[in-house]
Amino acid sequence: GDLHDRLAALVHDVPDYPQPGVTFKDITPLLADAQAFALTVEHLVERADTPIDLVVGMEARGFILGAPVAVGLGAGFVPVRKEGKLPRATLSGAYDLEYGSAVLEVHPDTIPDGSRILVVDDVLATGGTAAATVELLESAGGVVVGLAFLMELTALGGRARLAGRELDVLLSY
Ligand code: 5GP
Repeated sequence: GDLHDRLAALVHDVPDYPQPGVTFKDITPLLADAQAFALTVEHLVERADTPIDLVVGMEARGFILGAPVAVGLGAGFVPVRKEGKLPRATLSGAYDLEYGSAVLEVHPDTIPDGSRILVVDDVLATGGTAAATVELLESAGGVVVGLAFLMELTALGGRARLAGRELDVLLSY
């Protein structure tokens, strides 16, 4: 529909970034458009399975979308960060990348037991980041009730790695 077309026109394809053969979806034009940014946040808020206690965003673009969604839902915001960025005691989880692995961290004392959590990020690609985030949050005592993405790259199969989870996606490619 209309919303889909408006938002899609503001996502720019960048060939061969960050490496040859990969086409990166750049969302910065969408973020810079006041109306498109507001509509995106509004839709992610409206479609959430409320009540939500906490929105979790993954570094770094998950922060940009997750924080306003949290405010819209009347929820708190918790950042999941790359290794070594959080200053206090962390819980961490490793996950595999195409080459090697990476570590995600959270401050577990920001997640009260049984908190209802919505995970927000810009892009669902292979699902590795999202699956590792879900595992991390649940080992911290949270309950992930859904995941919301601006965009899904369907060919990369991320949805299968989140089987059984409530997924909300505004644009799919
Ligand atoms: P995954 O772990 O699902 O393979 O990759 C998802 C993560 O990588 C997300 O945090 C997302 O921000 C980033 N990412 C992967 N591909 C793209 C892309 O084409 N565009 C943008 N904006 N982010 C991407």
